[in-house]
Amino acid sequence: MLKPRKNEVRKPTRTISGITPVAVMLPPRKCNHGACIYCPSLDVPQSYTPKSPVVMRARDVKYSAYEQVKARIKAFQVMNHPTDKIEMIIMGGTFLQYPKKFQYNYVKSCYDALNNKVSKTLEQAKKLNEKAKHRCVALCIETRPDNYDVDRLLDFGCTRVELGVQIIDDLIYKKVNRGHTVDDVIKATQELRDAGFKIGYHIMPGLPGSNLKKDLKLFKKLFSDERFKPDQLKLYPCQVIPGSKLEKLYWKGKYKPYTKEQTEKILVEMLKNVPRYCRVMRVMREIPPEYLVAGTIKIDLRKDIEAELRKKDSKLKEIRYREVGFALRDKKQVNLDLKLKITKYKASKGDEYFLEIVNKDDILIGLLRLRIKKGSATIRELHIYGKSLRLGERKRVTLQHKGIGKQLIKEAEDISKKNKIKNLRIISGVGVREYYKKLGYELDDEGYMVKNLPEN
Ligand code: SF4
Repeated sequence: MLKPRKNEVRKPTRTISGITPVAVMLPPRKCNHGACIYCPSLDVPQSYTPKSPVVMRARDVKYSAYEQVKARIKAFQVMNHPTDKIEMIIMGGTFLQYPKKFQYNYVKSCYDALNNKVSKTLEQAKKLNEKAKHRCVALCIETRPDNYDVDRLLDFGCTRVELGVQIIDDLIYKKVNRGHTVDDVIKATQELRDAGFKIGYHIMPGLPGSNLKKDLKLFKKLFSDERFKPDQLKLYPCQVIPGSKLEKLYWKGKYKPYTKEQTEKILVEMLKNVPRYCRVMRVMREIPPEYLVAGTIKIDLRKDIEAELRKKDSKLKEIRYREVGFALRDKKQVNLDLKLKITKYKASKGDEYFLEIVNKDDILIGLLRLRIKKGSATIRELHIYGKSLRLGERKRVTLQHKGIGKQLIKEAEDISKKNKIKNLRIISGVGVREYYKKLGYELDDEGYMVKNLPEN
């Protein structure tokens, strides 16, 4: 790769949402329940292929978390991206099924690499990261709905959990050997949300036993039924990959994936039905063509779909579509006459307040998620969009540093007070603790940042 020119940022969309994502891949390990029939088992991390870029990078360093993080940071630096605010994501297999000691060491190694120093304990590594050059502002762990441990996730400094949900139908779960039920999804969603985690669902249209009508009906249910209502989605249409049981069914003529047209159709309908409080993180898995037996090959289908929707002037409400970073990338004029918009909705037996700072064109500058349930209030997310900027830097477009975060926190405090709540807690990436400290919050024993709210 040619070295970029001074100030030229390669692949700018990588950090367009305001943070620098660093994915680390786990070493291969089979899931405890066996294998879901669409999941490839190819002597690499479960559900990935040997040619997936993240797998290749991980194999190069023998799956060392430390080396993977180091290498990614270096790669981002070479491409002139900022590397002070890192979102870490641990992927491949079901992390919480690995031996417990391995899990703790693995997470510690991620922090160690960010700190450029090997700490003795995870606690020390986290503490050190609070003021490190590369701060972990968010940590995401992928897992199954029947495999989570709230206390351990808090120990890790985790802020987001991605659940492999695929579809909310017990018969299909049986058919594809998921090994869990819809009730597990409901329970995990509630307990994780109550603890303040951001909840992402992986959704898989086109599974055996489903069809376009059923996929769409169940997708709509995700947002009409308060037991679900995820904050984020990854939409991964079912594909036939070598080494999966689905491949055998496919060759026997017992399963057919959606055609490109069907895939496009279902994705358009799904995207149109995502409410404004949910972000569609990804559409389509990055399966290298040589590992695709059948299914849609087009990895960047989302781009085509969104371009088509824009042409028809049909607007999507989901978060990513409205983020200011994309408007700036597309050289749109962004009106900075901003207003606060609050959407209140019920989810998992609690009240969710979704606060947004938007302009008149509904372009999104910042958001906050506040959950109120049984006399307690938790901020589950605070995110200011725009260009990812080095901490403290004020030279370029500094949307992230214009006090929008402070304003949103103040609103959340006011709503909490109106609900007669005495203290507000925030689930915080280790690297954001300093920011909250400046706003009067203190770290509690469980890892939340907490503030007593004075009575008016
Ligand atoms: S739970 Fe995920 S990783 Fe495990 S077999 Fe199923 S799809 Fe693959």
